[in-house]
Amino acid sequence: MNFKLVHVFLSLTLLVVFTSSSYANELSKEQINKVLKEAYNKYKGDMGGKNADYIKALDIVDPTIFGITFVDTHGNIYEYGDTKQVVSIQSISKVFTAALVMSEHGAKFVQEKIGVNATGAAFNSIIAIEQHGGSASNPFVNAGAIQSTSWVKAKDSKERWIKISANMSAYAGRNLTLNEPVYVSEVNDNKRNQAISKILDAYGRMGSDPLEATTVYTKQCSLNVSSKDLAVMGATLANHGKNPVTNTQVINAKYTPKIMAVMATAGLYDNAGDWLYDTGAPAKSGVGGGILAVIPGKYGIGIVSPPLDKYGNSVRAQLAAKYIIEKLNLNPFAQ
Ligand code: GLN
Repeated sequence: MNFKLVHVFLSLTLLVVFTSSSYANELSKEQINKVLKEAYNKYKGDMGGKNADYIKALDIVDPTIFGITFVDTHGNIYEYGDTKQVVSIQSISKVFTAALVMSEHGAKFVQEKIGVNATGAAFNSIIAIEQHGGSASNPFVNAGAIQSTSWVKAKDSKERWIKISANMSAYAGRNLTLNEPVYVSEVNDNKRNQAISKILDAYGRMGSDPLEATTVYTKQCSLNVSSKDLAVMGATLANHGKNPVTNTQVINAKYTPKIMAVMATAGLYDNAGDWLYDTGAPAKSGVGGGILAVIPGKYGIGIVSPPLDKYGNSVRAQLAAKYIIEKLNLNPFAQ
């Protein structure tokens, strides 16, 4: 009897030790909440930068919106500020459509057909296509993103759109909806992207009609997301493709390192090197004001604040993300 009790006690002790040691490297709730609050308070008054205005509907978005969300791979959510306010996802959508193309055609296809190298040029550069032998260089500049959209397998653009929006919704764990004014404003004014799609078509790189693909691409950029959505999407990448909130495996785990590698080299456009130097984190920005950063294997960080710097990256979102990553010692290269 006594022996049995000792045995049960020892087993329970071992279980507790094992469970807590497997979480030993994780941050406490208090640590995370404290640093999010500090980041919010430190930068909420910083009104540097300017909303994007080449898409007219973005110019009138409230520039004071500032939301910070942090999600771990167990699905715990930490938030501070305007975390329910939505902005259009814009270029951050490029990550998820490229991931869909990778699932459908394989990692080699993305590398060979679209490319995985930084352009060193602006996100909507045309000259970069010519300089790189008629290639987009990577799926996170407009050229590569329009190309990705064109390669999503579908019988027509309607089906392509349904697949792309369902895919992004699966990463976010909820049904993302369209920001109609942003879509209408951009679709009537996206001549430069149309030109990009035509050049790529001339080089034989498009999977469907170029103008149709540009329209679907513009629509995918117009889905609304909050900082919470972005953080859950990031945590899904951090969690080897499994959404930690819904527990759905959204993409095969073998592809997430490839996607994050391109985020590291080209996620913040021609400023990606500076960002990586400061944070070490794969990330993606959008001209709607969102930034999504991933701490592989650990966390997704989503921040929304519309005013942008000259590269098209949110000023406050970059500052807050850098602060959080530094204070919580999350730089992947420092582990
Ligand atoms: N829809 C925008 C465009 O094509 C996205 C650009 C961005 O977020 N950098 O210009």
